[in-house]
Amino acid sequence: MNILFACSELYPLIKTGGLADVAYNLPAALRRQGHDIRIVLPSYSGLAEAHHKWLDYSAEVMGYPVGLLQAHLKGTDIPVYLVDCPQLFDRPGGPYGEYADQPWTDNAQRFGLFCRVSEKIALNQVGLAWHPDTVHCNDWHTGLLPLLLASHNKRPQCLFTIHNLAYQGLFDRIDFEALDLPATVDGKVLWDYQALEYYGMMSFMKAGIVFADAVNTVSVGYAKEVLSKEFGCGLEGLLRSLGEGFSGITNGIDTQLWDPSNDPMIQTIYGSHSLHRKVFNKLALLAEFQLLGHQDRLLLGIVSRLTEQKGIDLLIEALPLIMQLPVDLVVLGNGDKVLEKALLEVEKQYPMRISVKPAYDERAAHLVIAGADALLIPSRYEPCGLTQMYAQRYGTIPVAHGVGGLADTIIDIAPFSENIADSTGVLFWDFTPDALIDALQRLHFVYDNLLLWRDLQRSGMGEDFSWDISATGYSNLYQSLISQKY
Ligand code: ADP
Repeated sequence: MNILFACSELYPLIKTGGLADVAYNLPAALRRQGHDIRIVLPSYSGLAEAHHKWLDYSAEVMGYPVGLLQAHLKGTDIPVYLVDCPQLFDRPGGPYGEYADQPWTDNAQRFGLFCRVSEKIALNQVGLAWHPDTVHCNDWHTGLLPLLLASHNKRPQCLFTIHNLAYQGLFDRIDFEALDLPATVDGKVLWDYQALEYYGMMSFMKAGIVFADAVNTVSVGYAKEVLSKEFGCGLEGLLRSLGEGFSGITNGIDTQLWDPSNDPMIQTIYGSHSLHRKVFNKLALLAEFQLLGHQDRLLLGIVSRLTEQKGIDLLIEALPLIMQLPVDLVVLGNGDKVLEKALLEVEKQYPMRISVKPAYDERAAHLVIAGADALLIPSRYEPCGLTQMYAQRYGTIPVAHGVGGLADTIIDIAPFSENIADSTGVLFWDFTPDALIDALQRLHFVYDNLLLWRDLQRSGMGEDFSWDISATGYSNLYQSLISQKY
């Protein structure tokens, strides 16, 4: 099958979160299954210099001069087409704004143009002599692509994947008009609540949901949750109306990059039969975070974007109670400046107990996952989440709010039981400091008994989170769309 995969982030070229990991690993797994998959990504600052193989294509799109470059997905033969438009993409900072919490004001134009050029690739109009059978769009940045494709009779099938429903790509009506889209597509008036309009704004996310041939999200649990008012971000009715056209496929993880027995980024490698060596990573982590002297105490780690979604506000509220337990905490994360500042304040209140590194640092992320005893993930909601799966692979126990993909991929221990059975972590169900503390107390009960602790670690390490399972799910979904067409 020929698949065009459109995304706004791609590991290792550009990453702000799990989407970049998925965009790397899912195509790689589909390629291993024999599919001809190709990726399209905006050519952000620095990418054109690093990948100067220009394709013989130049055009004016939406008034901007555009070219195409070709790179390859790291370690594979998968082509990555980079949409080059320096006026829109060659800027300092992140893919969506100079800083994470300040989006560029012309993002509708930027990702509108990205979708227009992706449409041309999907329709074999850029001189590649290649026709995709399926176009796989990811999150709001690619939302206009299903809409643009829907206006053609002869076109590939289109899947739209929601990685996070809360980020919808909302813009003013004036931005909608500047995009110069047709008034109606496939019999639907665009500026209407049944199409793009969302409470007086234009929603790229809605465009993807309404015009794709199928929609999915990144875990089975989240696919159920977003049908409710609590998690649906105002789109629950629309998603419910899709019926069987909306499903969940749980993400996997990169089991080569995240492998404690072969990880050059950690202090000491180890496996399920050499778990005693894990402590050397704890010592290195404590040293790096300057918490020396507490190696016997339970060490909690956090690797996360600092946002309310990730429950960092709950963590801050619960910290006075958490600090009454015999635990220490290291936090690696960046994002919301208010939360970052609040964490640095509490760090000062608990010297030698809490250490915060407000940074994005791949190597440090591996060390935290390997060196902490437990990984705390208090997300308010979680479409899938990856770090709980990394943690299990490293014998680091996830302690998480029981939502979305977290509840799908962690098996909770029975309260204060001496039998670990198949459990792999600790879940708390109420989003309150008390519930979080209760979970940590249950965790500590197991930590106090080395045999039980080892059972819990090994049980998580034995889980199979490889991408091949998810890739088969996607491959079946693409196939069902193609069969639907004929
Ligand atoms: P989300 O996509 O919502 O941020 P996920 O758990 O799906 O959450 O993915 C987060 C990814 O980003 C993981 O690969 C995680 O290791 C990485 N990550 C998050 N924060 C940091 C950080 N401060 N430094 C390095 N890696 C980070």
